[in-house]
Amino acid sequence: MSSRKNKSDRSSHQTNQNYESERILTMQCLYCFTPIITSVTWSNVFYPSSFQHFCSNCLEQLSMIEKPICPRCGRPSNNLCIDCHRWEERPDYANVLKMNRSIFSYSNFVQELITQWKYQGDYELIKGFAPFIRKAFSANFGQLAKSLTIIPIPLTHMRAYERAFNQAQAIAQIIANAYKIPIIDALKRNEEITEKQSKKSRYERLETKNPFFLSQKLHTNVLIVDDIYTTGMTIHHAAKQLKKAGSPSIYSFTLAR
Ligand SMILES: [Zn+2]
Ligand SMILES: [Zn+2]
Repeated sequence: MSSRKNKSDRSSHQTNQNYESERILTMQCLYCFTPIITSVTWSNVFYPSSFQHFCSNCLEQLSMIEKPICPRCGRPSNNLCIDCHRWEERPDYANVLKMNRSIFSYSNFVQELITQWKYQGDYELIKGFAPFIRKAFSANFGQLAKSLTIIPIPLTHMRAYERAFNQAQAIAQIIANAYKIPIIDALKRNEEITEKQSKKSRYERLETKNPFFLSQKLHTNVLIVDDIYTTGMTIHHAAKQLKKAGSPSIYSFTLAR
């Protein structure tokens, strides 16, 4: 995004000012660096994570998924969506994934934000997403939290080299910390099988061999965590291996759908 300034401009991230006896905190939007002015109150002074990290313009473009949603994958829909129907028609994938829930509707803006985070290793951006992650997790999985083990989708070695860090791991860590849920990196990638998704058609992608295997069996319910749910192929591949190994119920959580 052209309005995004150089990272080095972030040096004075937040400053306190006295303003007519009211405490004002000036922060910058984590994405476009527009200043955000917040009054410091008793309710937010002890919870700095509750401060707004994105400006109102960026927040407006982050469109939250609202009901009605597909009961399976959580995208806006009145019934089971067409993608989920397709998964249900495949005997090898039907019922492997109990439910996916995502926070934001997939859009160019969300894609840009996530790509920025992905390839520039923008550690700060997780602070902006954290309140959304905690809220969406609590609303959709709060009741199940005690029964879950979190498994983040791993990066390929190639991508781990290209990127600064694994976003799925960062999202998983926020949930794990808030709910005291264990994260187990049981999902491993078979590096022989690559998913060069962008170069393949949707049909070809669905036919790709499963790139995942498990380093250990889990007999608990599992929450798979990833950044984006697009065709659902990555999550279905992961869910299938977990189901085969004996996990009773498999759920997934992503930032965007
Ligand atoms: Zn902004
Ligand atoms: Zn669906």
